[in-house]
Amino acid sequence: MSRVNTVLGPIPTEELGFVAVHEHIGYGMPGCELDTKWWKTPEERYEETVPKLRRFHEYGGGTFVDATGICNGRDVDYYKSLAARTGVHIVACTGFVGGDTALAFFARASVEYLTRQFVHEITVGIGDTGSKAGIIKVGVSRGFRMTDLDKRIYRAAARAAVTTGVPIFTHLAVDSEPAIDIFREEGLSLDRVLFGHADDGVSQGKVRDTEIADQGGRIGFDTFGYDLELPDPPFWGRPRKERLDHLLRFIRGGYLDRVLASADANCSPLGWPGVKGHTVNYLFEELIPDLREAGIDEATITTLFVDNPASFLTIQS
Ligand SMILES: [Zn+2]
Repeated sequence: MSRVNTVLGPIPTEELGFVAVHEHIGYGMPGCELDTKWWKTPEERYEETVPKLRRFHEYGGGTFVDATGICNGRDVDYYKSLAARTGVHIVACTGFVGGDTALAFFARASVEYLTRQFVHEITVGIGDTGSKAGIIKVGVSRGFRMTDLDKRIYRAAARAAVTTGVPIFTHLAVDSEPAIDIFREEGLSLDRVLFGHADDGVSQGKVRDTEIADQGGRIGFDTFGYDLELPDPPFWGRPRKERLDHLLRFIRGGYLDRVLASADANCSPLGWPGVKGHTVNYLFEELIPDLREAGIDEATITTLFVDNPASFLTIQS
């Protein structure tokens, strides 16, 4: 049976439905939970989060993939209760958003140690939650160049992906050459890697999206909603139309089967203000209407949000 690990247990791939492939229940920098300015009670976090997930479910959303990873506020017992309350499948990840968000303990760890950690979280469980990770997160540290630590994390992720059959998604698609070299050296097909944030404002000019796709990699247009038109946009924001046109160009260029889309929104941000009004539901409320308006048919929309994520997330055995 083809299956995917969710926080409430493995499910058959066909049950994933519509997938938001790169989202966050709550993301913050390591240590933010110690800052009283940002501290939230569990009730406040539920109150901010549950309505967004319920709305997602009402719109037809099936699965929410959390891209938070170790050290950035991942809270699997909380995810389990959210999934049980809202009916949304939640997939948790192992791995790190980037070397620069790994706490010192992990930053000093060897490739072998990191590999064991990732494999344990995928095959045994995350901490004592009993929940298994369904995907591995890696990323490029600030500065747009992979650091030595980033490379160790990528290599450990590649080994864990080969061992367990779960896929990898990346924070940033810049500096992809060393990443591709590592995946090749470890025998991991690029079809198992989603190079994320290819669409964000600060990465433009630095992402070889078609080259990556030509080599079999998957491309994430997964910062939808971080529009420069919004009040107080983040530094990675981009004009709304420019991002949409980028996606349309990619789809029409023959790369539909390589594309995944998401909003990278925080249901309840930890340690930073987030962007007002930007939620996972941007996909239903803004992006899909924009795609229809641009003449994209329903079959293509299904490929983007159902078929591509299903083939990507299914554990390879
Ligand atoms: Zn993210």
